[in-house]
Amino acid sequence: MSSPDVQQSLSTIQCDACQSAVQSGGQQTVSFLLLEGLTIPVLGCDDHLEQFSSICELSSDDTADILHHRPAGGLSCPSCRLAPYNASYPMIQVQDGAIVPIACPEHQSEIAQRFQTGLRTRQQLTSDLVTHIDS
Ligand SMILES: [Zn+2]
Ligand SMILES: [Zn+2]
Repeated sequence: MSSPDVQQSLSTIQCDACQSAVQSGGQQTVSFLLLEGLTIPVLGCDDHLEQFSSICELSSDDTADILHHRPAGGLSCPSCRLAPYNASYPMIQVQDGAIVPIACPEHQSEIAQRFQTGLRTRQQLTSDLVTHIDS
């Protein structure tokens, strides 16, 4: 089966490192995002994973971390543990790169929401800053 949509969206990733991480299908470079007791497997390059985690962190009082190895305790969510890599997984665009969470649908949408919330928070912070400079 061909999946033109996925191919098309892959080509919109401008970061080569992200593209090859996503294309590897988790064979080599799965990292883990730790946030508020959640452990979400993610694909992407180091730079964009760092950016992703720092933006997610803005949506939380907790800190977000990226692990480059499977955490000692494994994954907290049994459904995430079983989630196979699937080329139709939604990508989350991070500036000129993109990351793919390899999680159960529930945690995929949770982490996408976190990221959106974090982005909004950052926008507010930035506009606050501008207001301060103006006054
Ligand atoms: Zn990247
Ligand atoms: Zn899960």
